[in-house]
Amino acid sequence: MSTSSSLNWLDGALEGLQRAGLRRERRVGSGLPAGAIDFGSNDYLGLAGDPRLAEAAAAAGRSGWGAGASPVVSGRSALHAELERRLAEFEGAEGAILFPSGFAAGAGVIPALVDEGDAVYADAKNHASLIDGCRLTRAERRVYPHNAAAALRAMLEADAGRFRRRLIVTDGLFSMDGDFAPLAGLGELAAAHDAMLVVDEAHATGVWGPSGRGSVEAAAQRAPALESQVAVRIGTLSKALGSAGGFVTGSAALIDWLHNRARSYVFSTAAPPAVAAAAIASLEIVRTEPERRERVRRNAERLRGLLGDAGWNTGQSTSQIVPIVVGAPERAVALAAELARRGFYVPAIRPPSVPAGESLLRVSVSARHGADDLRQLVEALGPAPDPAQPG
Ligand SMILES: *Cc1c(COP(=O)(O)O)cnc(C)c1O
Repeated sequence: MSTSSSLNWLDGALEGLQRAGLRRERRVGSGLPAGAIDFGSNDYLGLAGDPRLAEAAAAAGRSGWGAGASPVVSGRSALHAELERRLAEFEGAEGAILFPSGFAAGAGVIPALVDEGDAVYADAKNHASLIDGCRLTRAERRVYPHNAAAALRAMLEADAGRFRRRLIVTDGLFSMDGDFAPLAGLGELAAAHDAMLVVDEAHATGVWGPSGRGSVEAAAQRAPALESQVAVRIGTLSKALGSAGGFVTGSAALIDWLHNRARSYVFSTAAPPAVAAAAIASLEIVRTEPERRERVRRNAERLRGLLGDAGWNTGQSTSQIVPIVVGAPERAVALAAELARRGFYVPAIRPPSVPAGESLLRVSVSARHGADDLRQLVEALGPAPDPAQPG
């Protein structure tokens, strides 16, 4: 086999990752034997393996698999349209639009809404898809410290009158820290400064809020104005909903505009209609089986309590994403390896997914887990080392 020598630099670059403890292995699944308890998947409601999703997809797939084209050409099937209608209804929005993935939604929406002469304000810990969306726009970019509404306010005030349009973008529930954005405050700032507020609900859809709409619905229980202050909601079908694909909900005009202008939507083939059929089935389960979201929230609270009792640092988490912050990447990798030997899959999260010095074990709690699973995980970890005696 011949390979191009122009790629020889990769050998050194990969060795560099290895030395820094940052090289990722390519394995199948978690790499653990069947029977290991999975604390890595974002299948928060236990729907990814639900036979009702597989049956809905199989039935739809018999009348054809691939969508064949972009939704702006001929790829938007009746099932895609039906799922969009149901997502809008679920979110209490005028409309919804499907993207090939949640990543594509975040990366596509921002550059569709702001351009030269505009400004975008982004939380420092936003998901990579939102960061890339910001990088793809010609708008001025401002990053405010994580969850610092006061710092954002100061930026908005300092910029008053300088820009045509302004957009604030944040994760609703942060994917590594498991904490929520200060949404009520962000909603007020957006309203006061006439800025478009964009909230990415990827980890909150299906899990938070009385009907499972996400972090905005949850925060709106105390701040009812918030629902209308959020102009754009991004969600994913790939996590709690157990399927695949991303979506955006909002006004009819927003959806119309994205259909015309979001490049990751226009220039990408629609997902197979069968994938939409699976998501329709899972939305129906989210609606009719609220006990799933109650269970994952209860499990998460129990686990945070057990970890705290054992002396572990779970940071700012108040959700089903429970980080165990350990610092050095090598330490996170060693702990994950020890847990794997004991039959638990918990991924070690290292830079660039988290800032240097903040490597962690990311425990993802699901409605699938039983009380014993949680207890056994904490037992396998053992007590946290005394911070006075490092190592
Ligand atoms: C996971 C995630 C995405 C990406 O969604 P996919 O459907 O997996 O592409 C987008 N935004 C946030 C905040 C996420 O955590």
